[in-house]
Amino acid sequence: MKDVLDRLVELQKLDQQLHQLKALRGDLPNQVQMLQQDVNQAKKNLQDQKDKLQTYRKEKDMLELEIKDLESKQKKYHDQLYQVKNNREYDAVSMEIENVKETISNKETRIIELITLDEDLEKSIQSTQNEVQEIQGQLDQKENDLKKRLGQTEVEEKKLQTERSKIASDLPPRIVSMYQRIFNAKNKIAVVPVLGHGVCGGCFKNLPPQRVLEIREMKRMNLCEVCGRILVWDEEAADKKP
Ligand SMILES: [Zn+2]
Repeated sequence: MKDVLDRLVELQKLDQQLHQLKALRGDLPNQVQMLQQDVNQAKKNLQDQKDKLQTYRKEKDMLELEIKDLESKQKKYHDQLYQVKNNREYDAVSMEIENVKETISNKETRIIELITLDEDLEKSIQSTQNEVQEIQGQLDQKENDLKKRLGQTEVEEKKLQTERSKIASDLPPRIVSMYQRIFNAKNKIAVVPVLGHGVCGGCFKNLPPQRVLEIREMKRMNLCEVCGRILVWDEEAADKKP
């Protein structure tokens, strides 16, 4: 059992180093992901606005063509006006002219509306384009930072991972999973030495003298009854005041 406990101490040292390397990367991977989402959303907005602009412009082109047609129709009616034979025909043609005028006027009103919409949308597209650029800039920088940090830690991390696997594979799986559970639950400290005056090195509560003797023998697994951590004996630590 002493052998197992010694290896657990080793395992914990490696896990703590690995944890520090991960902490060094900090929130960067998360930030990169969020910015990626933001940039995608902004790009989608931009595309939607550009599509809308196209439909406005198509509508305007169509209206202009229609107006041209109506104007030539109008001209024809005017010519007809000189050829009418009676008042009834005159009224009929005049009414056609009025109708065409009104239709043209309606279409012109819509064109003016479309011009305003077009101008507003152009402005909005410009600002969305700026937004995309700005977020993209932030994203590029964060990605760069992350790449640099990963580069710094990658080799070290691989080395530690290899050592860790070696030690873990020599330990009973049941003990490794118990250790892992405590490590994750107890602030990355699963194995603690007994400190001076028989105090738990994890929670600093007093241990019964009988337990301290047992732990010192390292013949079986001893867990702190207060914090649940694995207790080991270490001469140097036992001299230390808590
Ligand atoms: Zn404890």
